[in-house]
Amino acid sequence: MKYKRILLKLSGEALSGGKGFGFDEETVRQTAAQVKRAADLGVEIGIVIGAGNFWRGRSSDEMDRVKADQIGMLATAMNCLYASEIFRGEGMQTAVYAPYPIGLYTETFHKDKVVEKLKEGVIVFYAGGTGHPFFSTDMAAALRAVETDCDGILMAKSIDGVYDDDPKKNSDAKKYDHLTYEEILAKGLMVMDLPAAGLCLENKMPTKLFALQEKDSIIRVVQGEAIGTTIE
Ligand code: UDP
Repeated sequence: MKYKRILLKLSGEALSGGKGFGFDEETVRQTAAQVKRAADLGVEIGIVIGAGNFWRGRSSDEMDRVKADQIGMLATAMNCLYASEIFRGEGMQTAVYAPYPIGLYTETFHKDKVVEKLKEGVIVFYAGGTGHPFFSTDMAAALRAVETDCDGILMAKSIDGVYDDDPKKNSDAKKYDHLTYEEILAKGLMVMDLPAAGLCLENKMPTKLFALQEKDSIIRVVQGEAIGTTIE
């Protein structure tokens, strides 16, 4: 197994299947089934989910950004609670942590508690982003990956890798098999947000970006198959 402990980042949109809004139960069930296979192979798995299927703070021009981002962070908690229940239905034990109290719905993030759960094979969801506005769930993923000593971040997207141009608009767009965080920062590539790339660079945390829809992609990545784009 290439990875012993991973941080899986799912965008909010990934939860909505092709719909772009809300939840698509079948997509989440299929993701859960793959995660279960990886967990059964002994991989320890923490998951950060975005909220693009409900709300993105930066998209609302008219609202105070801090408040808009707070709504986005709460939306990530809804996504985690939803996914956690579906994952339980697929036979996994789950726990949902957040960096601040969200009533009785989540537990407060604490490294030691979380690592204990990961070692027990519990699938840990990190809800609520970093707890701070002006960040994104990419940053939350980078932060939790570094904090919990993961071997890498698995970024499951709707695209199968990083391209030098938009492959939907340019049929000659070239896919990168490998990129460095320095290249992402220097070229301003919108693969992940720049603070997240900086944190990964500083802490030598590799990221694998690949398509969630590609058959068995999560399992193939944890087993070390060369799909997607590797960033390190
Ligand atoms: N957000 C935030 N701080 C964080 C993480 C998220 O303010 O640490 C807010 C922000 O408004 C963001 C939204 O939550 O737009 C949803 O996260 P993101 O855009 O990363 O979701 P994704 O695009 O991955 O679905």
